[in-house]
Amino acid sequence: MTGQAEIGHKKRLLIVVSAPSGTGKTTLCNEVIKQLPNLSFSVSHTTREPRAGEKHGEDYYFVKEETFKANLKDGKIAEWTEIYGNFYGTAKETIEKEFARGIDLIFDIDERGGRQLSEAFSDVVTVLILPPSMERLKNRLIDRGTDKEEDIKRRLKQAEEEIKGMSWYSYVIVNDDVEKAVSELKAIITAERCRHDHGLVERLLKNGS
Ligand code: ADP
Ligand code: 5GP
Repeated sequence: MTGQAEIGHKKRLLIVVSAPSGTGKTTLCNEVIKQLPNLSFSVSHTTREPRAGEKHGEDYYFVKEETFKANLKDGKIAEWTEIYGNFYGTAKETIEKEFARGIDLIFDIDERGGRQLSEAFSDVVTVLILPPSMERLKNRLIDRGTDKEEDIKRRLKQAEEEIKGMSWYSYVIVNDDVEKAVSELKAIITAERCRHDHGLVERLLKNGS
């Protein structure tokens, strides 16, 4: 050890992973978080009812609409959206806390949220997950067993519009085989962590002089 400060990677990534419901985002994100170091899931706030098995503080912070709206008014929300009458959003505090711990964040959010984060932060990585076919998407929603029949019909109708709206995203993964999709998402995050950060060279030379 020389006693010199080591340069490390100073930038923090915001990895936005979007897809129509049932495509497999949760499955892929959970697996990648298990496999890569210094990576966490950004837990959103929502006004929707918890589904069976969902835990407060793990899947979402389940809050009342008046609480969500008060936080929005007070400027505590980094990005937000409204879907089918429910509010979803990321607290600024969630991002600040994880970044202070040196953790990169994965966001399972919609295109509207992805756009807001891209405008507010510099190191945002946008990843669109696609189902292999619309028929397979329908089957996954049925197999997941968490949505009523009318919700599944509504979600499928929306899926096409959502996918079209995300054509500006930087990366696309087709979630056919889970293992392959996980390895592609890991590769994207690893490559983005290695993206040339010019401040790094400056810090190295400054430390060495
Ligand atoms: P999302 O978070 O996008 O709504 P989930 O991760 O909950 O989607 O996945 C929806 C369903 O599809 C789950 O039952 C999950 O196990 C299944 N699934 C996810 N990826 C695949 C895949 N590549 N092949 C088959 N089933 C999958
Ligand atoms: P679900 O009700 O199935 O959990 O989520 C519905 C949609 O809300 C998904 O497309 C999910 O990505 C999106 N979503 C969840 N949390 C947030 C959030 O904090 N911000 C935004 N913009 N979208 C979110």
